[in-house]
Parts: sequence; C-alpha cells; structure tokens
Amino acid sequence: MSEKREQLVRRLIEEGVLSQPEVIRAISKVPREEFVIPDLCEQAYMDTPLPSLEGQTISAPHMVAIMCQLLSLKPGQIVLEVGAGTGYHAAVCAEIVAPRQHGIKDGHVFAIERIRSLAEFARSNLARCGYSDRVTVIEGDGTLGYLDAAPYDRILVTAAAPRIPPPLKAQLKDGGRMVIPVGEAYSIQDLIVVERSGNDFREWTYGGCVFVPLCGRYGWSP
Ligand code: SAH
Repeated sequence: MSEKREQLVRRLIEEGVLSQPEVIRAISKVPREEFVIPDLCEQAYMDTPLPSLEGQTISAPHMVAIMCQLLSLKPGQIVLEVGAGTGYHAAVCAEIVAPRQHGIKDGHVFAIERIRSLAEFARSNLARCGYSDRVTVIEGDGTLGYLDAAPYDRILVTAAAPRIPPPLKAQLKDGGRMVIPVGEAYSIQDLIVVERSGNDFREWTYGGCVFVPLCGRYGWSP
C-alpha cells in the first residue's frame, strides 16, 4: 500500500497539483486505506472521491492536497475542520500542524461531524493510526463553529454551504484563513478562500468543486 501511496504522490506532483513540501510529506505519510470503508480498501490510492458511510464521501486526494495548500498550513496552528467524515483530511492537517518531532508548541485539529456514526468512524480511524492526541472529533453542527476552542488560525469546510456561515467568520483569527465550498447542493460549487484582516474579509475563488451538502443551522436543511 505504501508503494501505491508513493505512486499517487508522484503523479500529483507531476500533474502540478502537489507542490508544498509539508503537504507532500503529510499525504505521503497518512494511510488513506485505513480511512476508506473496508470494502473499498483496494481503491484507496485512486485519485477519486469514494463513498463512505451514510451516503457521504471521502474527498479525492487531489482535493485534499489543493485545500491544504490553499490553507497554507504551518506547524503550531489550531485548525477547525467542519465535516470530519472518515477523519482522513483531519489526519493530513494534523501531520502538518502537529508533526511528531516538532519542538515548539504543537498545533491541533478540531474536527466536527454532524452524523454520529461518522464521528465514531472518524474517531476510531484516527485512534488506530495514532492521531487521537492531535485531532479531537466533536459531534455537532459545524455551521455554528466550535466556540470552545475558538478562534482558529485555519478553518477547513469539507461540505458545500449555501453561503459562508457567519459563526465561522467570527471564529477565524485575525490574519487567519478559511477554505470553503459554496454553491448549490449536488451541483458544481466554488471553492472560496477567505482571509481575515481585522474586521475585513477578503474572499477569492480558487475554482470549481463538488462536495456533499453542508447541512445545519447556517447550511442546507437536512
Ligand atoms: N473531510 C472528510 C469528508 C467530508 S464529506 C474526510 O476526510 O473523510 C462531508 C462531511 O460533512 C459528511 O460526513 C457530512 O456528514 C458532514 N457534514 C455536513 N454538514 C455538517 C455540519 N453542519 N456539521 C458537521 N459536519 C457536517
């Protein structure tokens, strides 16, 4: 499996998708086969989204790479992920913000998931792969953010919102950055990057993407 992982990383570099060294290292390290549902283990290193539990998906590796690079993740950062799903993307973020032999204060990933069985799936995958101390999975509506650990250096939303949920903007640190898909449910959406400077929020669009809907108070109705 690790050979297949290396091949995938090499292909993403050749295609020009993967370029930041810390993201290359993280994707080379996290065993995606441990996060996909067991029946799909053999397909873990295809560059495609795969079905997970409850009609949800695990994002394609190229999308994980693009979002991590847009976030410009660095060791020591506190990250909120909305849509923990299988826990895979949270593990990749943790490899960057809280690498094992990092001297200064480690970062942490708080990952929220609204579907209980997925929150449990993410927790068990993360524990088995050694990420429990670097990723905390919370069950709840992530459109409200997670006040207990706010504000965040980075916010990653991995489900498509009708608009940017105001609590997520409010919980972003000054100088912080958020990446979020915005647009119609089950259609092509825009991947938006939000940068906060004081009370100013600069937004720009990276390009099109397709995510499952973000459901909740500031999302779509479930
Ligand atoms: N990042 C995940 C894949 C995300 S799929 C991974 O690495 O596997 C999108 C996930 O967002 C789904 O699991 C869905 O249940 C969840 N979701 C949708 N709306 C949500 C909300 N308001 N709060 C938290 N999670 C939500």
